[in-house]
Amino acid sequence: MQLAPSFQVIDGQLTGARQLPSPNFNQRPDDTDIQLVVIHNISLPPSQFGGGYIEQFFQNQLDWSVHPYFQTIEGMQVSAHLLILRSGEVLQFVSFKDRAWHAGRSSYLAKKECNDYSVGIELEGSDDLPFEEEQYQALAEVVAALQQAYPKIQQHLAGHSDIAPGRKTDPGPFFDWQKFRTVLNGLKQRKQ
Ligand SMILES: [Zn+2]
Repeated sequence: MQLAPSFQVIDGQLTGARQLPSPNFNQRPDDTDIQLVVIHNISLPPSQFGGGYIEQFFQNQLDWSVHPYFQTIEGMQVSAHLLILRSGEVLQFVSFKDRAWHAGRSSYLAKKECNDYSVGIELEGSDDLPFEEEQYQALAEVVAALQQAYPKIQQHLAGHSDIAPGRKTDPGPFFDWQKFRTVLNGLKQRKQ
C-alpha cells in the first residue's frame, strides 16, 4: 500500500518527485511564462519497460553498447522535465525554471519553439501499448500542480504529435486523452 504523493511546485521543483538532475537544459528566454504542457512517451529499448535506461539516457550516462537500438540514438542529448514510470513514480530531471530539451522543432498555436515556454512530461510507454492507471493518476496530479503554479497553462495540454505533426507520433493512439481529462477534472472538483 503506497501513500499517494501530494505534488506541489516549489521554486521550480516538484515535491513528491524523485530528483535526477540532467545536464541537458539551458535557460528559457527572458520573461518567458510557462504556458503549455507537452505529453510524450518513451521506452528504451522501444516497448520495453523498466531497466533504468531512460533515466541514464536523460543523464548522458547510457552505455550505447548495451542494445542495438541504443546505437541509433548514440550521442543524442535530450531531456524532459518529468518522467512518469509505469508504476506511477514521478522523476524530475530539469527544473521547471529551465528549458528542457524534449520538443525539438515544434509549434503550438502558431508559437514556435515549444521548449522555450513548455513543461515536457514523458510517460514510460510506447505507441503500441496501453498506459497504466497509475500513470494517468500521477499525470493528472502533476498537471493539476503545474496549472496551479503556472496559471497560463490553463487548458494548454498538447501531445508531442500535436506540436510536431508529421515528425512525431507520441504519446500515440493508446494515450487516452478523455480518461486523462476526466481524472484531472475529478481532482480539481475535489479541491474546490
Ligand atoms: Zn516526444
